[in-house]
Amino acid sequence: MFRRLHLRRISRGLRFRLTASYALFFTVFLIGVAVLFRERLDHILQKQEQDALNDQWAAMKGYLRIEKKHEIDPDERAIWYYDDGDPDETRIVLEIKNYSFVADASGKPILDENDQPAVSAGYTDSLGLDPPPVVQATINAARSLKNPSPVWSTRWSADGERYLVRAGLVWDQRHQLPYYVALGMPLSQYGNILRGFTWIFIGVIPGALVLGTFLGWFMAGRALTPVLAVAQAAQRISGSNLSLRIPNREAGDELDYLILTFNRMIERLEASFQQMKQFSADVSHELRTPITAIRGQLEVALFTAKTTDQYREAMFNALQDVDRLSQIVRALLLLSQAESGQTILQKSRLNLSEVVEDLVEQFQIPAEEARITLTSEMPPDCPAEVDRVQIERMITNLLSNALKFTDKGGHVRVALQSFPDRIEIVVEDDGRGIAPEFLPHIFDRFYRVPGSGTAPGPEQGLGLGLSFVAWIAKAHHGKIEVESTPGKGTRFAIILPACGTGPETMELAVQSTTLV
Ligand code: ADP
Repeated sequence: MFRRLHLRRISRGLRFRLTASYALFFTVFLIGVAVLFRERLDHILQKQEQDALNDQWAAMKGYLRIEKKHEIDPDERAIWYYDDGDPDETRIVLEIKNYSFVADASGKPILDENDQPAVSAGYTDSLGLDPPPVVQATINAARSLKNPSPVWSTRWSADGERYLVRAGLVWDQRHQLPYYVALGMPLSQYGNILRGFTWIFIGVIPGALVLGTFLGWFMAGRALTPVLAVAQAAQRISGSNLSLRIPNREAGDELDYLILTFNRMIERLEASFQQMKQFSADVSHELRTPITAIRGQLEVALFTAKTTDQYREAMFNALQDVDRLSQIVRALLLLSQAESGQTILQKSRLNLSEVVEDLVEQFQIPAEEARITLTSEMPPDCPAEVDRVQIERMITNLLSNALKFTDKGGHVRVALQSFPDRIEIVVEDDGRGIAPEFLPHIFDRFYRVPGSGTAPGPEQGLGLGLSFVAWIAKAHHGKIEVESTPGKGTRFAIILPACGTGPETMELAVQSTTLV
């Protein structure tokens, strides 16, 4: 069972599949090459044999005459003329004669000068006699053409030997009669070479295949080892040790790219894990204070209050803390929805000047109560494509902070300016300002500049307002800048992309966002 599972795992593995495809390709390739070579060799050898037989044919024309032996001879005979004292000539003629067949136009073998049929024993033994219809057909075909081409055939003897036969026409010059001559040539040597070649391939291909497969298996293993290493390293990374990274191999290949991508993913995961941890720590810390206060007030009331007024006061205080609690929870919910991308901006084209002017008007009453001069400067028209609710929330936060942290007789100025590529909203005050060491943290959740607010209580801010402002600016592909001098005032500038500015420009603006 285990063996079967193991085998199945191997056969599904990338290494096995790579090796199998490599072996398959190798097999097809080798067999293809072998077949191609064999065909080519066959062709060359056949050509060689044909050339040799052509040579014999040419020689035969010089040595063979079809004529009567003497004037009163009734039949034409096949007579081979050669010098039997010359060993070379004798050998050549005997070689030609060895597989030769000479017949008249009816297909009957004619006689030689010794009154024997002019058919060699080699020819009849191996190939028999050419049937008269074949002989007649060959002669007729050759005579009907102006330039008769030889008739080639490959024949098998009874004992399985292959022969190449060239048949054609020879004239009896004196009487202008056509005679049929066939010369044969055993192809045993040619067959041996081909067979030898085939056997070499049959022997070599499996060996080469086994070797190639082993090589493929080894190479696939080598190529995949780093993948396994990456997988093992990835397995060691868990929620508790997200700081682990897979070491880069510095090979600059696809695997390094995978490792880089993987490491970046872990980095992002680690950042969001960290953010979540920080968030829960912040939340529990923020919630603990009002809960402790409520508990204290209720305990005091339970053990010490005697009159209805005392109970009423304790309940009033507890209720205020409950309000604050629900305020925190509501703000947190909104912020976490926004930051996790669940809040979708409802953008519409509107006149930003009108929106900002309306808000400034709403803040005139609290400003007057606090004896602060609130002024605004803006063009009559400033078209923008924004989410009205979010933009109002952003300016409300900035304005209420400006009023909260500016003393009596102070000045708060709101300015809106439109440029071809951007819109700038500035909220500026001459209030208490923020010390440089606190400035980098003011956009963090629950951050309040120490000693800036009143003692913890209902009037104290939640420290979430600027987190919202930062998110809203970012969600609009904009950025926020802050400058502050303690004792002199603070200036927040929100820069939004102008209407019709392409997404690339906005993306750039997000990248260059400097929160401080
Ligand atoms: P809060 O709800 O406490 O105002 P914010 O996130 O809006 O929280 O602001 C964070 C802190 O930044 C505030 O506690 C305050 O100390 C500081 N701050 C914000 N705006 C101003 C301002 N206009 N002048 C001085 N300090 C400011």
